[in-house]
Amino acid sequence: MAIQKTEGILLRRQDLRETSLILTFYTRGFGKIKGIVRGVRGARAQYGGGAFEIFSLDEVVFYERKTGDIYNISQCDLVEFFNPIRESLERIAYAAYILELLDSVTILADKNSEVFELLLDSMALLSGEASAKRVARIFEIRLLGLLGLMPVLEICANCGKAICPAAKFSFRHGGLVCKDCLESDREAHPILPGTVKFIQYVRGSPFDKAARIKVSSRVGKELETILREFLDYHVERRLNTVEFLTEIER
Ligand SMILES: [Zn+2]
Repeated sequence: MAIQKTEGILLRRQDLRETSLILTFYTRGFGKIKGIVRGVRGARAQYGGGAFEIFSLDEVVFYERKTGDIYNISQCDLVEFFNPIRESLERIAYAAYILELLDSVTILADKNSEVFELLLDSMALLSGEASAKRVARIFEIRLLGLLGLMPVLEICANCGKAICPAAKFSFRHGGLVCKDCLESDREAHPILPGTVKFIQYVRGSPFDKAARIKVSSRVGKELETILREFLDYHVERRLNTVEFLTEIER
């Protein structure tokens, strides 16, 4: 592989020995990549200008090493620092949650430019006026869609029959189940019509428009619980940032 250049959002940084870092990016051109950048820590380090901070958007130049799936990063220039996010603990916490969630559901070198755009849009919205919580919910719904896990809400997710008011939300079946199918998942949750409508609205609207729609606090709370548990059902790893979010929401 020749030298490559792409834009990426920094998901994770780990220290490596005294002076180096291992950076994990979600990139426009290559999906998730991991690379070593040398000489950026310690007394004689060159100043990275924010390029090595999580959720920065960087232009990354990298090339393959002889072994393994970790690249050598030869250059990493800051494109966007998303300063307004960094001025609010709540926004930082939601940005970190979005990064961790994305990291946990993606594998290396599986390019998906729609996922990159979703991540970039989310960081841009978190930098603006939109509610951080709302941005996180929209990110979750859209990510489920891009992963092929969008909940089935128009017909019964188990038998395909029409949905009635007694329908409940089933994690196992991946959507609403009709009253005839409730027996097949006794853990199915009751769900408010407003919650179903919000998910349908987000699915069919541009991100910035979806971020402006108002929901009642009951729907907001239920969206959070149902999406969180639905994601937990599919993402086997427990996310560290969820606990932190719960702390700051108190
Ligand atoms: Zn059914």
